[in-house]
Amino acid sequence: MSVLQSNVPDGPLSEKWTRHKNNLKLIAPNNKRKYNIIVVGTGLAGGAAAASLAEMGYNVKAFCYQDSARRAHSIAAQGGINAAKNYPNDGDSVWRLFYDTIKGGDYRAREANVYRLAEVSANIIDQCVAQGVPFAREYGGLLANRTFGGAQVSRTFYARGQTGQQLLLGAYSALMRQVAKGKAQIYSRQEMLDLVMVDGMARGIITRNMVTGEIERHAGDAVLLCTGGYGNVYYLSTNAMGCNVTATWRCYKRGAYYANPCFTQIHPTCIPVSGDYQSKLTLMSESLRNDGRVWVPKKADDNRPPSQIPEEDRDYYLERRYPAFGNMVPRDVASRAAKERCDAGYGVGEGKAVYLDFKRAIEEQGEKAIEAKYGNLFHMYKKITNENPYETPMKIYPAVHYTMGGLWVDYNLESTLKGLFVLGEANFSDHGANRLGASALMQGLADGYFVAPYTVGNHLAVNDLERKKIDTKNPAFDAVEQDVRGRIDKLLSIKGRRSVDSFHRELGVTMWDYCGMARNADGLRQAIDRISNIRREFWENVHVTGTGQELNQELEKAGRVADFLEFGELLARDALAREESCGGHFREEHQTAENEARRDDENFAHVAAWEYQGDDVEPVRHKEELNFENVQLTQRSYK
Ligand SMILES: Cc1cc2nc3c(=O)[nH]c(=O)nc-3n(C[C@H](O)[C@H](O)[C@H](O)COP(=O)(O)OP(=O)(O)OC[C@H]3O[C@@H](n4cnc5c(N)ncnc54)[C@H](O)[C@@H]3O)c2cc1C
Repeated sequence: MSVLQSNVPDGPLSEKWTRHKNNLKLIAPNNKRKYNIIVVGTGLAGGAAAASLAEMGYNVKAFCYQDSARRAHSIAAQGGINAAKNYPNDGDSVWRLFYDTIKGGDYRAREANVYRLAEVSANIIDQCVAQGVPFAREYGGLLANRTFGGAQVSRTFYARGQTGQQLLLGAYSALMRQVAKGKAQIYSRQEMLDLVMVDGMARGIITRNMVTGEIERHAGDAVLLCTGGYGNVYYLSTNAMGCNVTATWRCYKRGAYYANPCFTQIHPTCIPVSGDYQSKLTLMSESLRNDGRVWVPKKADDNRPPSQIPEEDRDYYLERRYPAFGNMVPRDVASRAAKERCDAGYGVGEGKAVYLDFKRAIEEQGEKAIEAKYGNLFHMYKKITNENPYETPMKIYPAVHYTMGGLWVDYNLESTLKGLFVLGEANFSDHGANRLGASALMQGLADGYFVAPYTVGNHLAVNDLERKKIDTKNPAFDAVEQDVRGRIDKLLSIKGRRSVDSFHRELGVTMWDYCGMARNADGLRQAIDRISNIRREFWENVHVTGTGQELNQELEKAGRVADFLEFGELLARDALAREESCGGHFREEHQTAENEARRDDENFAHVAAWEYQGDDVEPVRHKEELNFENVQLTQRSYK
């Protein structure tokens, strides 16, 4: 029997979650105040969970490394959030959202989790509207929808190009209400550096106060990790600079399994890299493909400005190759198609970009209508590139954007470590090998508002935690704190000749070259060797300025890069072991004659979850077989 028990309840797909909720154990309202819950992360997943648990009566401590909980990376989300409301009456349903998500993820996600996600999606919109989130509306007042990739219905709710910001303000307001009531406390500028296990259960964390350098201990009855994705292992990505793998990685090293780390998402529409010293890439939201048309010149190396390339000389390659979905194919498909055109010599702007053109949309709808939908994105594009997208097509190229892998969790969102729950982008749960646009916000909020509040209570009740109180004097805290201090001292003592950033950049180039949009066995083996060499040099030659007892951003970065240097190797190992192409994981050895991903359902219809065995010891790869009882596995087609 697999060590990985998904704990998916029995019964028909559409009844599983309701039945499960009916069977979960409850904590009586008056008893909830006896429990302390630690929530690490205040993005959409963490903010929603912290606010909901505090509202229910638990005492919540919420941690984030930013100076304010409302600066979590979720604030960057632009395009929208999916929900099966069927407001445009175009045939949407819970089933269709479920089906699109399972298919979009190339059949590498758990059916029951994905169905639940689709089921609670409608509640999320109601919850956010009640909080005052200003979603775009039609003239008659109904909430407006637009289309995102991988769907033939319009189910994406949005607030211009700032959906994440508005949703986060909603969650943050709900959390601040609980802070005012004394039920929640926010610990900002605190970085979680390790997990404390007591008697086989997650009971606390060790943090570093990033302002004073003080190492702190926090105890609780459950720990919720809502710490976001690991896209910055590639150095250049659309993620905020602070996004990191540290919290999940340190939990992995304490025994939590890491699932599908090779499932990374490369987003097709980003502003291309412009120089060696760039540290951040900028997303141009997928929503732009509702009106923007993607094309390259039909002739290779055609250097004419776009305005001088007539229609008959343009190749709208997505519309040509995928007539049913056109420019709205999912991200993995659009990214690979852009790479294929550029590699074949048809790219524009030094060969590493394709056009995203709004000319026809502006002619048909007028500039004002386009500005109303995407004004802030056009403004951002112009500020960065100094080109006016109302007049000339945007130049775009794929970039690292999102990570589908994460800590393995069961149906309750509990990791392989009891009492450690993982929510939002930090877990692996719902998107399989490729996430559909506008589904990350949906998942983070589903986990935080509608799943964890039930399942965490069950954990407290089943394990009788009321009678197992501990505090930070427990000896388990001594040992973990010592580990944390030892690691910081070691980083500060090396005093080598290279900056932290230079190692991060070198790692990023290796990851992009060998584990990026296309991967092969030789390259992945080389990547594993290179990463281990970079890591060795890092621990001999990194220079971390300053001390541990002060605000020290070099030290913060060093800790995160050290973790990326271990994690990157696991990502490459996972990619090497998965001998198939699926979603964002494209193994060159496994493709169809038309260069589409070729899955191997017989041997790889499973989740790979890695178990740590010790530094410099190969981790063990476990499998959770995926059973598809409600959908048929087919070759994904968007033609
Ligand atoms: C530019 C951009 C645009 C996007 N647009 C969309 C969109 O339109 N629709 C959509 O569905 N998705 C979108 N996404 C994806 C989506 O924004 C994210 O997947 C989602 O917001 C992640 O939410 P989260 O709560 O899981 O994590 P985050 O919002 O990343 O929050 C992580 C939290 O964890 C804290 N944290 C992390 N590590 C530590 C640590 N060690 N100690 C203490 N605290 C820690 C951080 O301080 C933060 O509070 C976009 C992503 C990007 C990059």
